[in-house]
Amino acid sequence: MSRKRPVSRRPSTSSHPNFIKGSYVTTIAKEDFIQSIANALQFISYYHPPDFIKALGEAYEREESEPARDAMAQILMNSRMSAEGHRPLCQDTGIVLVFLKIGMQVQWETDMSVDEMVNEGVRRAYTHPDNILRASIVDSPLGARKNTRDNTPAVIYHEVVPGDTVDVRLAAKGGGSEAKSKFVMLNPSDSIVDWVLATIPTMGAGWCPPGMLGIGIGGSAEKAMVMAKESLMDPINIHELTAKGAETPAEELRLELFEKVNALGIGAQGLGGLTTVLDVKIMEYPTHAVSLPVAMIPNCAATRHAHFTLDGTGPAMLEAPSLSDWPDVTWSAGASSIRVDLDNLTPQEVAQWQPGDRLLLNGKLLTGRDAAHKRLVDLLEKGEALPPGVDFRNRAIYYVGPVDPVGDEVVGPAGPTTSTRMDKFTETMLGQAGLIAMVGKAERGPVAIESIQKHGAAYLMAVGGAAYLVSKAIKASRVVAFEDLGMEAIYEFEVRDMPVTVAVDARGESVHRTGPKKWQGIIGKIPVEVA
Ligand code: SF4
Repeated sequence: MSRKRPVSRRPSTSSHPNFIKGSYVTTIAKEDFIQSIANALQFISYYHPPDFIKALGEAYEREESEPARDAMAQILMNSRMSAEGHRPLCQDTGIVLVFLKIGMQVQWETDMSVDEMVNEGVRRAYTHPDNILRASIVDSPLGARKNTRDNTPAVIYHEVVPGDTVDVRLAAKGGGSEAKSKFVMLNPSDSIVDWVLATIPTMGAGWCPPGMLGIGIGGSAEKAMVMAKESLMDPINIHELTAKGAETPAEELRLELFEKVNALGIGAQGLGGLTTVLDVKIMEYPTHAVSLPVAMIPNCAATRHAHFTLDGTGPAMLEAPSLSDWPDVTWSAGASSIRVDLDNLTPQEVAQWQPGDRLLLNGKLLTGRDAAHKRLVDLLEKGEALPPGVDFRNRAIYYVGPVDPVGDEVVGPAGPTTSTRMDKFTETMLGQAGLIAMVGKAERGPVAIESIQKHGAAYLMAVGGAAYLVSKAIKASRVVAFEDLGMEAIYEFEVRDMPVTVAVDARGESVHRTGPKKWQGIIGKIPVEVA
């Protein structure tokens, strides 16, 4: 994201006191730096970068898989709604990453450290009353994992470089995509392509494809990881590279991986389709003769990053994309969608759902994710009663941790979280609590699928990265238990026509298994194993 450069107020004569030994010493004021960080984080919470919108729009046009096209339509419409409403693209508003290049001719007018100023910017952004962002950071990951309430601290990288400006690249990285980060120490003669193609299918769809892959090659273990992350800050330009042709080994590898990863057929949200990645980025660094460190980090449907430079003339101003940058895509539930009354749901009705069926949920939907599941299962295993108002018999649960509402909103953006984290609780929730349907994002693992089949339940998938769109289907919300867990409390939502897809049916058939296999065969560039 480029910065609209303000008119320079810098003096033009070398007699100015900041002109020392032939170059300027730029003074960066505390408030300018903090407010620039805060503004940029607010900005990226609701504006996708234009290159991402363009690439996703083109992928939507090319897509031939109907479920994947439907998911992309939801993400594009969600993107436009967020831009118009200035509300987050996703309920997971991310962990803040900041890459700073600080010029050696820069001096600071501040009583705070650079990191303290960055964190003050994060604090202001995430608690902004007009657009509260979800605080997701917990301190002491080994301890009580207490939420810091303002999304601090950020993860900050500093580089001191020649020059008299401060260059800032920042991102809000979703936890679902971060959780799929991979690293390997290959032998120099090993194939990076083979490792990537073997690894991507193990990542499932919890990283909310389509997105980008950042790959760091060389250096040491930690250097490769940082490069993989940093590479994701660059704009999407694979089609320009395709047109120009590769001139370096890294560019050759980008093109090869782009084609072969998409040939895996994983598709949007893992439903099977032509586009899994919109670009593959690579950064490399010299390494030890015996090593080939390779790190791979995906970026999700909520790709959020900005870039600005401070030159001492005031805070950065980011240029908002024009609404004409969004493709003219309007998502609506297809005529074949099945309306479901959650208040009178029966196991017999659930048993009739087929994999890939599109459902519109209506009625009362309980929520719960990691922390709530842990407490519920602890209570059930001790034979204790669930909290008053929490009755899962013949009910559906939604794995979600919504953003707090603002203004007259019932709830803030409320998209699904990664379901596999709830797999280990599924047997107890189906077998003892009486649940018959679950709503989340991406695939289920073998343990959960076995329980779904055993109890004749179903798993329904909502689109990760379409949180603001989904929240419009929630007409009422109240906390019914575990209020102390904040966004992880158990809510009861009243939903109207909430769109979901049957991802695992009562017989245990999973669209995340069948969809990619089918599209890998159709694309026909990777051998498909015969089951
Ligand atoms: S799009 Fe998916 S992975 Fe990305 S922040 Fe949202 S839920 Fe997380």
